[in-house]
Amino acid sequence: LPVELPIHEAVLGHAAAFGDRPALIDGTDGTTLTYEQVDRFHRRLAAALAGTGVRKGDVLALHSPNTIAFPTAFYAATRAGATVTTAHPLATAEELARQLRDSAARWLVTVSPLLPTARRAAELAGGVREILVCDSAPGHRSLTDLLATTDPEPRVAIDPAEDIAVLPYSSGTTGTPKGVMLTHRQIATNLAQLESAVPAGPGDRILAVLPFFHIYGLTALMNGPLRKGATVVVLPRFELETFLAAIDKHRITGLYVAPPIVLALAKHPAVGRYDLSCLEYVVSAAAPLDARLARACSKRLGLPPIGQAYGMTELSPGTHVVPLDRLREAPAGTVGRLVAGTEMRIVALDGTGRDLGPGESGEILIRGPQVMKGYLGRPDATAALIDPDGWLHTGDVGYADADGWLFVVDRVKELIKYKGYQVAPAELEALLLTHPGIADAAVIGARDEDGNEIPHAFVVRHPGADGPAEDEVLAFVAERVAPYKRVRRITFTDTVPRAASGKILRRQLRERP
Ligand code: ATP
Ligand code: MG
Repeated sequence: LPVELPIHEAVLGHAAAFGDRPALIDGTDGTTLTYEQVDRFHRRLAAALAGTGVRKGDVLALHSPNTIAFPTAFYAATRAGATVTTAHPLATAEELARQLRDSAARWLVTVSPLLPTARRAAELAGGVREILVCDSAPGHRSLTDLLATTDPEPRVAIDPAEDIAVLPYSSGTTGTPKGVMLTHRQIATNLAQLESAVPAGPGDRILAVLPFFHIYGLTALMNGPLRKGATVVVLPRFELETFLAAIDKHRITGLYVAPPIVLALAKHPAVGRYDLSCLEYVVSAAAPLDARLARACSKRLGLPPIGQAYGMTELSPGTHVVPLDRLREAPAGTVGRLVAGTEMRIVALDGTGRDLGPGESGEILIRGPQVMKGYLGRPDATAALIDPDGWLHTGDVGYADADGWLFVVDRVKELIKYKGYQVAPAELEALLLTHPGIADAAVIGARDEDGNEIPHAFVVRHPGADGPAEDEVLAFVAERVAPYKRVRRITFTDTVPRAASGKILRRQLRERP
């Protein structure tokens, strides 16, 4: 460490050696790409992109749901020297235009069903030279057309330490999404840091249901498995029955999911209708996962405990993971141990910033080779996040035990201050989910008549069943937590709004009338 390789070399450097092994399988229609094909196609495509005018440092926006063509397009672009900014396939034209403009994207790669949005966004943003499609559409060149090129492979000198490989936008959970500059070295190094703990191999069959465009999916479902010769079965979106059927049919061995999927696996009746005995492990990350829920899920599936990982886009993204060979000994609820070559501090939230010891909760600070280069065009926001000594202030509250296992409590900004006490929404959400009549829940800080902050729960009751009434839910919580943590207000609702990465969009709940 650090790993000084361009990302396409770090990931596909061994691809040719995996030859005819299936690299990617379309979970919908079974179409398969072998490692030899991914290797050959991405090199051809890099040549074609260079022939089209893609130059080192150009930003190429990849706007696509998960498909088996996504990795080819992605690594071709980086091999041609481009920076890839991954875009949400469900973004509106205005949202996509904002990202295209902010990143100064010159190229846009999309799929035919998204063309109307892509065209409109390119028009609004200006600056896009060409829209290419992964599949096919009249009036646009497709990746398949480009594969026919006879152009020579581009010779682009990439400096892994300086050149930006990926420009993902943060989830926007707490504000407007920001472009996160991640160099080749940062991504390649973090892959190496994570894989010693989660060693995928050629025998692994991974189901890619979380989006590739988000850094978690990109790392855990694309870069990591493809680097190791595993087979990635690709689904375009999460739909429980399709997901369960794909696990069963493709004999999936490993799942990387977010807490809402753990919830479904633990509680949904459909789970019993599929043979999921092929599963060997489940990893959850991106949002707080309650230990009881995790246990209910792993027990139901007959699996070892669910392993968690922790990170953020600005950390390329991982800093903590429970090693697969330590799942049984790791304490319940931990997000894991610090990866190699990385330092952590936990500092007091009382304004003194003093270092805290084992068991004491404070803000998590990280320093290491995976800390981002910065936010694109936002030096102030960068300086607010990373201090002059290189410590990134995560904005998350947590504590480590004496053996170094980290526990994440919640985000600093989400903590509800009730009469001077701090209440973590994640704890109340987890508790609410243990009620058999509650299907989903989210908690925010609201104001009571006197202007004091109070915990306000949004509760989704199980459909059909006789759901609990308001006073029953209030009593259920009151019996189980200290008085200051009690839920003070309840709104019953049909859904909890979540980002594609599985996080609760508390902002949207706050804006509800
Ligand atoms: P934005 O920064 O734009 O508001 P975001 O922080 O949600 O969005 P991401 O980078 O996708 O964007 O998410 C990182 C955050 O996810 C972390 O700061 C942390 O709050 C949360 N997180 C990640 N893994 C875990 C985990 N295992 N347990 C609890 N929270 C987690
Ligand atoms: Mg963030």
